[in-house]
Amino acid sequence: MAKKTSGKDAVIEVLNRARAAELAAIYQYMSQHYELADNDYGQLAAQLKLVGIDEMRHAEMLAERILILKGTPTSKPDLETKKKQPVLLIYQYNEGLEEGAVRDYNQFLAVCREHGDYVSAKIFEQLIVEEQIHLEYFQDVIGHIKDLGNVYLATQVGGAAEGAPAKGFVASQGGAPA
Ligand code: FE
Ligand code: FE
Repeated sequence: MAKKTSGKDAVIEVLNRARAAELAAIYQYMSQHYELADNDYGQLAAQLKLVGIDEMRHAEMLAERILILKGTPTSKPDLETKKKQPVLLIYQYNEGLEEGAVRDYNQFLAVCREHGDYVSAKIFEQLIVEEQIHLEYFQDVIGHIKDLGNVYLATQVGGAAEGAPAKGFVASQGGAPA
C-alpha cells in the first residue's frame, strides 16, 4: 500500500509539471496575441487567442485533478514570457512549446499508467491530441509565411480578436477527434 502513496505523489508531480507548462503557454500566447493585434495582424491574433483559451482549459483540468488527488495546483509558469518576437519567430517558438508538450505529456501519460491512475492518464491522452492540433496549426502558419511571405501576411491583416468565440481553438475546428 505504501507504493500506492508514492505513486499518487508521482502522478501529482507530473500533473503539476504539465500545469506549469500550460500556465507558461497561457501567458506566452496572450502576450503574442496582444502584440499581433497591435501590429494589425487581427486574423492571426484571433486564432492565437483561441489557442490560449485551450491552454486555460488544460490548466483547469489539471488543477481539478490535482485537487481531487489532494495535491496543491502550482501557480508558477515554467518559462518566462518572450516579448517582441517577429511574426515568424512567434510561430517557430510556439512550435517548440507544443512539440515539448507532446513529448513531455507522453512521458507523463506513461507515469500515470505505471501507477494505475487511468483518470489522470485520460487527461494526458486528451491533452496530447489537442497539443498536436495546436502544433499542426503553428506548422501550417510557418509554412505559409515561408512559402508566401508578405502575400500570406497581408491576408492576416485586420479583423478584431475581441469578436472571437470563447470556446478555444480546438472547439472552433470542430473539436478533438475521439
Ligand atoms: Fe495545453
Ligand atoms: Fe497547446
